[in-house]
Amino acid sequence: MRLVLANARILDPSQNIDRFGDLVIEDGKIAGVVAAHSADGDEVRDCSGLLVTPGLIDIHVHLREPGFEYKEDIESGTRAAAAGGFTAVCCMPNTSPSIDSTAVVRQIIERAAEVGCARVYPIGALTRNMQGDQLCEIADLKAAGACAISDDAFPIQNAETMRRGMEYCAQLGMTLMTHNEDQALTRGGAMNEGRTATMMGLPGIPRVAEDIAVARNVLLSELTGCRLHLLHISSGRTVDILRKAKMRRIPVTGETAPHYWALTDSACEGYNTNAKMNPPIRTAEDNRLIIEGLVDGTIDIIATDHAPHAPYEKEREFDQAPFGILGLETSFAVSYTTLVLPGKLELPDLIRKMTIAGAQVVGIPGGTLAEGAVADVAVFDLAAQWTARAAEGRSKSRNTPFDGMTVTGKTCFTLLGGRVVEV
Ligand SMILES: [Zn+2]
Repeated sequence: MRLVLANARILDPSQNIDRFGDLVIEDGKIAGVVAAHSADGDEVRDCSGLLVTPGLIDIHVHLREPGFEYKEDIESGTRAAAAGGFTAVCCMPNTSPSIDSTAVVRQIIERAAEVGCARVYPIGALTRNMQGDQLCEIADLKAAGACAISDDAFPIQNAETMRRGMEYCAQLGMTLMTHNEDQALTRGGAMNEGRTATMMGLPGIPRVAEDIAVARNVLLSELTGCRLHLLHISSGRTVDILRKAKMRRIPVTGETAPHYWALTDSACEGYNTNAKMNPPIRTAEDNRLIIEGLVDGTIDIIATDHAPHAPYEKEREFDQAPFGILGLETSFAVSYTTLVLPGKLELPDLIRKMTIAGAQVVGIPGGTLAEGAVADVAVFDLAAQWTARAAEGRSKSRNTPFDGMTVTGKTCFTLLGGRVVEV
């Protein structure tokens, strides 16, 4: 079986390729890039005017299965992923039961192989049931197929536990991903501390709570040699800490997500719980510093932190509603519209941060169109304008702060192992 994506702009940052041509796929693997209109195949798809990239990779997603299938499951979550151009996602362990045993790791991998529209790589928990005290059997989680370790959503407060966890991960060569929050400073907080929170009469979450936890975790990474990945950077000050850590050659990487540069805390006005996030959406100055970090390479990765919640859970008083928003279906378009179109970030940089950079941080395959690689591919129409509509999403949930936003850049289709994914 020979499939040709013909006459496309083919962009692969992993090989510094950006040219017009035909992408040839044979028996599910990349066979190469040749001159436009020169390849023959069993199936030739005309991709004139379209962009072909490695399938996008999101290393920070909540698929909610097992345990919270009313919010999302592996099938609906990976359908949303494919609709957004993603061919691989790493799923966080705050499920029920949490991903703290080999049985749950295997169950997710098996379920994804049956119903997944994208590859799924489970992230194992650092502590038992994410309770923050007893470390999991990380060696066993790794052997079962966990790609990284995290207690996302339940940040480790005890520095000694974090140190031991990092020592364990370092021994095994596992990346530890941290949600960075000093909870002594955030208890009861509902949104970013500042003018908007004051006007709305809501308790604030100060950015220093993130900065302090980041500084501690970076220092522990330096002490232990553990590869540390900072999840969902929201604070401009954190970007500076990460930049300095990299200068000191501490093995740390960082990610942010579109809502942290494309929106400010005014998105919460009107008590809009679909903009309620932790860490919270912050200010224009944070947006500016985060974009600076993306541009100068301090922030390696754009993730989504796709976190579905059912409508009835979000339709509550702002301070009672759960934290979390959707992201998979809008991430590429919002990023392209707010970073690339205004000339802030080059398109190859954006694609790198959404493909190979994530694969490298967690050590998974994909993110490349290199000859012989499995043909996980995304195809986009960069001229297409569309309006994000929560009601039309593939996710089971509707909690997106981008509802109604007109964006540019649309996924046409993805290939998973050379097969067109139907969403
Ligand atoms: Zn998360």
